[in-house]
Amino acid sequence: MSFLSTIKKYDDFSFEDYASGITEEMVLSSLKKEELTSKDFLNLLSPAASKHLEAMAKKANKLTVQHFGRTIGLYAPLYISNYCTNHCTYCGFSVKNKITRKQLTLEEIDTEAGQMAKTGLKHILLLTGEAKGLTEISYLADAVRVLKKYFSSIALEVFPMDEDEYILLRDAGVDSLTIYQEVYDRDIYSQVHLSGGKADYHYRLDTPERGARAGLRAVNVGTLFGLGELISEAFFSGLHARYLMDKFLETEISLSLPRINPAEGGFKAKYTLGDREFVQFILAYRLFLPKAGINLSTREKEEFRDNLLKLGITKFSAGSKTTVGGYNDDGDSTEQFDTSDKRGVDEVAAMIRNQGYQVVYKDWEAMW
Ligand code: SF4
Repeated sequence: MSFLSTIKKYDDFSFEDYASGITEEMVLSSLKKEELTSKDFLNLLSPAASKHLEAMAKKANKLTVQHFGRTIGLYAPLYISNYCTNHCTYCGFSVKNKITRKQLTLEEIDTEAGQMAKTGLKHILLLTGEAKGLTEISYLADAVRVLKKYFSSIALEVFPMDEDEYILLRDAGVDSLTIYQEVYDRDIYSQVHLSGGKADYHYRLDTPERGARAGLRAVNVGTLFGLGELISEAFFSGLHARYLMDKFLETEISLSLPRINPAEGGFKAKYTLGDREFVQFILAYRLFLPKAGINLSTREKEEFRDNLLKLGITKFSAGSKTTVGGYNDDGDSTEQFDTSDKRGVDEVAAMIRNQGYQVVYKDWEAMW
């Protein structure tokens, strides 16, 4: 059974009507529970819960410390290609945008990785656009073999693949997968994914499962806030994570909360996730999914990130560049999106330590 059948159960459900009927008593009752149902989760995502952020924050902090300790993992993205055959209306790398395209050679990847490794980072997220004909699986596998010289954990955020392709990349050294559905609303999905392989909603939705079945250690999911109605998108991404946690007991499941930032092409988001709601959603995720990782990227401003550290986050990106070859600073390729927190790895690490948390550069080493 696919997660799609869970989504379809809500086809005739009005999130707006339900949320407007949620009372503070319902929120407080959900807040008291040890194990939350999906309705409790929805209660905590609703406007009625926004008056109870302090109580939610206290519980979220307690649960996070209980399951993860006072630790924050660090990672950074590494873009090796921005070629893309898809037309996603919200992305700077869309095939429709006339930008400088670039794909690194293996030698350039080696140089880029060496530069990144000087920061002390051991966990990286390897990214490309989606151009499978050019950014072939064999190229990715070769890239991973180069990166293994420098990093202990390599996560992949590229085009969705079949299970056997994930197995091939796992054997090359990939241990984790990030794959965002971007938007769970099926109508909006087809409105913003106008052409290319990414237009296949169902294949993308099942991708985390193919990765988990292929034996990848960790899978990270999420929605891109701004594309779809906020509460329902937060709800489905949380449900998706729980569905994966229940189905793949040996896989670490985590969530990210990317919000749309300005990108080439000038896309205007239909929905705006404000800072207060963003905090509320993190807290609701933590209370609903006490053991899920929650990642926070440099899309968010530094002061905001600093304030969120104790509320449920388990991983921070740091010193991120979203251009191809960005760590060697040749600066001739286009960013996928604007980053907000421009601090280097050392500065982010110092901030984490100042808050009494331990910085984790490495918590994984492959045995092959
Ligand atoms: S979101 Fe991904 S698939 Fe879509 S245009 Fe950007 S890089 Fe390509």
